[in-house]
Amino acid sequence: MQAKHLKKATELAKDIIKKVVQKGDIVVDATVGNGNDTIFLCELVGKSGKVYGFDIQDEAIKSTKEKLESKNMLERTVLIKKGHENMKNFVMDEVSAIMFNLGYLPRFSHDITTKYETTIEGIKQGINILKVNGVMTIVVYPGHKEGFEEKIKLLEFLGKIDQKDLNVLKMEFINQINNPPFVLALEKKSNDICF
Ligand code: SAM
Repeated sequence: MQAKHLKKATELAKDIIKKVVQKGDIVVDATVGNGNDTIFLCELVGKSGKVYGFDIQDEAIKSTKEKLESKNMLERTVLIKKGHENMKNFVMDEVSAIMFNLGYLPRFSHDITTKYETTIEGIKQGINILKVNGVMTIVVYPGHKEGFEEKIKLLEFLGKIDQKDLNVLKMEFINQINNPPFVLALEKKSNDICF
């Protein structure tokens, strides 16, 4: 049963991002997909800000570009048809926020899904370019095979990072069936952390 007052994972992630991102900021959408998070980030950064967006699917980049054009937001975006594991080659700025929404696009091939090796590489590169006090949200979908493996590897990797460098928060429904989605939220605390 869908909760009335308790928000779902994607909304919890947005609530955290909303508190941090200011007009004029530079941010990253690491998984553009249908473009919902890209548009949300564009609204937060305003005309003077910039949103970098990554996705490996042509269709995701193309349809998001059209949506952004129709909203007059294309100028504040840099859409890149490459995996987020290449972030360091495209984002030279320090950023205040990064959103990862893992898994696959619901109406498209379920084979084109995020995988733990490239996800962890993308997260590492993202941590490197985050400002101190900047945040990263990661929505994880362990209800499918790759997603379950991704959850295990992500928790193992993030759980070992020193808390003086990075705060790592996990928000999840603990009594829902079928491995529901959950949110990881990271806040960078020092520039000592570098991958
Ligand atoms: N944030 C999107 C939105 O608001 O509509 C939803 C993202 S969808 C759940 C996950 C996306 O990750 C898919 O579009 C998929 O193509 C993309 N993806 C898979 N592997 C990727 C990678 N290595 N780098 C970037 N995107 C990737």
